Amino acid sequence: MSHFTVLVIGDDVEGQLAPYSEHIEVDPYVEDCWCTGREDLPEDFECDDCKGTGKETTTYNPNSKWNWYMTGGRWRGYFKLKAGKEAIDVGGSGVFGNAPVHDADVALAGDIDWERMVNENKKSAEKTWEKAQEENRDVRYKLLVCGIREDDTKESYIKRCSYPCTFAVVKDGEWYEQGSIGPFAFGFAKDELDPTNWAEIWWKLVYDLPPDTKLTLLDCHI
Ligand SMILES: [Zn+2]
Repeated sequence: MSHFTVLVIGDDVEGQLAPYSEHIEVDPYVEDCWCTGREDLPEDFECDDCKGTGKETTTYNPNSKWNWYMTGGRWRGYFKLKAGKEAIDVGGSGVFGNAPVHDADVALAGDIDWERMVNENKKSAEKTWEKAQEENRDVRYKLLVCGIREDDTKESYIKRCSYPCTFAVVKDGEWYEQGSIGPFAFGFAKDELDPTNWAEIWWKLVYDLPPDTKLTLLDCHI
């Protein structure tokens, strides 16, 4: 159960997200019960859910990705706009009434000031890196709190943090997320990008969009 960011590319946000709702019930299908293959259960364990068959019938949407979402939310005002450009929409705040970080949650791709967003990210990554060094933080703290990997140099860390990047992207009704895809999913050549570098894939995909493409930033929950 957590909140995460989703970038929806194009119109019909609701329609593009609909197939991924946890609230959808699909035709009943059989799947392995949670108890199947569990080695940590006692030998005489009797599963109430499947009555020992190891199988269960369910109507749960196997493509579930969200059970709630709103525009903006915790990340309200995600996009920085170029001077003189106007937001199509600024979404509502999260439960703590957060003010917008930048200017918009719905905007045209060509109106977004990506360079400034990248520069801000770079500056903040540089600060985080320097602070972690000054405070002599251990490897674990660096990774969990700052996202600094053991083999990072200052340059590699700042580069990785510099891309604005959402947890998932929905494009043409397809859901893509960190860890689940390679760059070829978006039509990039297989060896064009590092398939493990989601931030870079995200950046290449979004930066090259036609300027009149509508982008929407959602706060999603599952
Ligand atoms: Zn069972």
